[in-house]
Amino acid sequence: MTFTVAIIGRPNVGKSTLFNRLVGKRLALVDDTPGVTRDRRDAMASLGEFKFRIIDTAGLEEGKDDSLSARMRHQTEMAIEEADFSLFIIDARAGVTPLDKHFADILRRGKKPTVLVCNKAEGRAGDAGRYEAYTLGLGDPIPFSAEHGEGLADLSDAFDEALRELGMDPLAKPQEEVTIKSIIIKGEVSEEDALLSEEDDGLPMQMAIVGRPNVGKSTLINKLLGEERMLTGPEAGLTRDSIGVNYTYEGRELRIFDTAGLRRKSRVQQKLEKLSVADTIRALNFAEVVVLLIDATQPFEKQDLSIASLIVQEGRALVIGLNKYDLLENRQEVMKDIAHKLEHSLPQIKGIPIVPISALTGRGIEKLMPQIFSTYKLWNRRISTAKLNKWLAQTMAYHPAPSVKGRRTKMRYITQVKTRPPSFAIFTNRPSDVADSYVRYLLNEIRWDFDMPGIPIRIMLRKGDNPYKKD
Ligand code: GDP
Ligand code: GDP
Repeated sequence: MTFTVAIIGRPNVGKSTLFNRLVGKRLALVDDTPGVTRDRRDAMASLGEFKFRIIDTAGLEEGKDDSLSARMRHQTEMAIEEADFSLFIIDARAGVTPLDKHFADILRRGKKPTVLVCNKAEGRAGDAGRYEAYTLGLGDPIPFSAEHGEGLADLSDAFDEALRELGMDPLAKPQEEVTIKSIIIKGEVSEEDALLSEEDDGLPMQMAIVGRPNVGKSTLINKLLGEERMLTGPEAGLTRDSIGVNYTYEGRELRIFDTAGLRRKSRVQQKLEKLSVADTIRALNFAEVVVLLIDATQPFEKQDLSIASLIVQEGRALVIGLNKYDLLENRQEVMKDIAHKLEHSLPQIKGIPIVPISALTGRGIEKLMPQIFSTYKLWNRRISTAKLNKWLAQTMAYHPAPSVKGRRTKMRYITQVKTRPPSFAIFTNRPSDVADSYVRYLLNEIRWDFDMPGIPIRIMLRKGDNPYKKD
């Protein structure tokens, strides 16, 4: 069993240093997009015998605007929610600051175990800060030095305790025969995910509009909001902060993230090319549905593709808006060309919806918005186990998994373990015999047979029969 840890703390306490220490050399693999710092990094890490996933929230502090605390809060809450427990870092030399207290409040509210780390404590310099740390009400602080690697044994003990509190046995041997084939998405689908995810969280749909510079993102957002103002008067329920706007489209609530608003001033000076990828990564932290705008008058570029594949990889619902359609003469041709390139370059996900629009005139928005809502709905889709198993039986009859060395691979049971995106577990006698190409085949079949074009889907293979059947 593996677990997830979030590193939480105000700027400069040593979060990145600790992250690097726990992740070690593998860090180089974490982010393969050069020049891009993610708001949140995650990676596999180890400490003693523990192997776990770690989420670093460093980098949030880079934006120096009013919304800093709001943003940090949001990110922190998300990281806490995603993790099994948190490592809360304070600077033992600086003592407990008001911002530390603020984080401690958030952590206490999260109701999960917190390991309190007093960093920069080498050479007893942090003794005073360490005693002060008791006032945070988060248990015994661990004196630590991320830079010098001191305190690792205590940290490991604290991990052990946190895991016990959670009732987890982290050192239980992973079942070797369980292979996770996660073709589309990095990472695994765990049972916990399944329990966490619910169809409708009751919150407005979160949408981001991304794309290369000058593709028309701001124009589209303004058009959407402008129309809303005209319909309902200037003081209509628009609340805007630097990250997003709450908005109602034909009675449906959504929250639009404005990637331009997420952009830091200093970044704007940087090479524009890098910008849109960085913006997309930021937006993905917030968005459930992503609208990728493509400029119909420009050739469809590698960068558009890498943004699209990033969105899909992260499991977000994707709709493509082909913008500036008003400027085109050869409309059919351009549409066909882009659809063709998409199918070829992202073969793992067929049928991504493409909607031609003009953000400038507003034409096509009446098609774009319903498409967004229907894609969102599919992304939230839950399919009954009965239907899935009927489907599996038919699919196996029609195109059984190839035998390996004369042994038959049987797929006996399928169930949906998660939505957002739809994720399925298939139980088979020999997970390790199943070729990736066959899993890809199943993915495409599910997508096709259950009518979910363009939706990222995950499949994982488990060893065994129907786990729920009572003998
Ligand atoms: P972050 O902003 O929380 O990610 O903090 P960083 O990891 O970037 O560290 C901030 C500064 O504290 C850097 O200059 C580090 O070298 C320094 N630092 C980190 N850990 C230690 C430590 O254990 N002892 C001392 N003395 N400095 C540290
Ligand atoms: P952003 O960088 O993606 O936010 O792009 P902007 O919204 O600033 O748009 C860049 C330029 O493209 C502006 O001059 C817009 O007026 C223009 N533009 C945006 N959408 C359209 C469109 O649908 N048709 C036309 N003809 N021009 C557009």
